[in-house]
Amino acid sequence: MNAEFILISADHWIVIAIKNYPGHYEHDQGITSKLDGKEFFDSSFYYMYNRTYKIDYITHLINPDIKVTSLMIFINEHSFTDINTSYDIEIIQRNGVKHFIENLAPVTPLSEDLLAIFTDKLNKYHVENPEKFESLQPSDFDSLQKGIYCPHCLSFNTEVRRSYIQCKDCEATETKAATVLRHVNELKVLFHQHPKMLKTKNLYDLMNHQIPPRTIRKYIKQNQ
Ligand SMILES: [Zn+2]
Repeated sequence: MNAEFILISADHWIVIAIKNYPGHYEHDQGITSKLDGKEFFDSSFYYMYNRTYKIDYITHLINPDIKVTSLMIFINEHSFTDINTSYDIEIIQRNGVKHFIENLAPVTPLSEDLLAIFTDKLNKYHVENPEKFESLQPSDFDSLQKGIYCPHCLSFNTEVRRSYIQCKDCEATETKAATVLRHVNELKVLFHQHPKMLKTKNLYDLMNHQIPPRTIRKYIKQNQ
C-alpha cells in the first residue's frame, strides 16, 4: 500500500507517505530495500524527496516562508524498520503518530482566502494521469544522455567504485546492485511498449560502459 497526502496549514505543509510493510523493513540508501531479508526495488525515498521538492516549488510561488517537510509513517503493526537515508525525511512508526500530531507547532488555521489561493495553485500544477505517458521508440535510445546519475541530486557527475557509486557533487552513495536495478527499471519505464529494449547491451550503453555487462547480468540474475 502506498498512500500519499499533504497536511496543509497556513505556514507548514507536510508531505506524507504511508507504508504498510508487515515485517522487518531495511533501507540503506539507494533504490532497493529489504523486507524480511528479501531485496526489492524501492524508490520511495527518492520519490518522496522528489515530491517534496515539487511541493516546495509550488509553495514558494505562494509564500517563500511556508515550511515544507516530508513524513513517512510505517503503519503496519508488525512493521519494524532499519532506515539509513540521506534525504531529509522524518520517519515514524504507527505508535508515534499521536505523539507527532500532538507535538506539531501550533498551526495557523487556513483562512478562506488562503484556501482559495492554495487550491488555485495546486490545480494549476495538477497533472492528469501522470503514469500514462508515451513510450519512447527504440530510435530514441541514442539521444538519451548516457552515464550514471545520482539518485539524490540527479547529477551525472558520479564515480564508480568497487561495490558502490558515489556522487562527486553531493557525495551520496548507492550500491552497485541498486544502480543496476535502477537503470533496469528506467529502461522498462521509458520503453514500456518495447520490452525488447531491456537487454544487457542497452543497460551497458545507458550507463556509459561504467559497469561491465558481466556485473549487470549478475545483479539482474540475483534479483529475478
Ligand atoms: Zn548527488
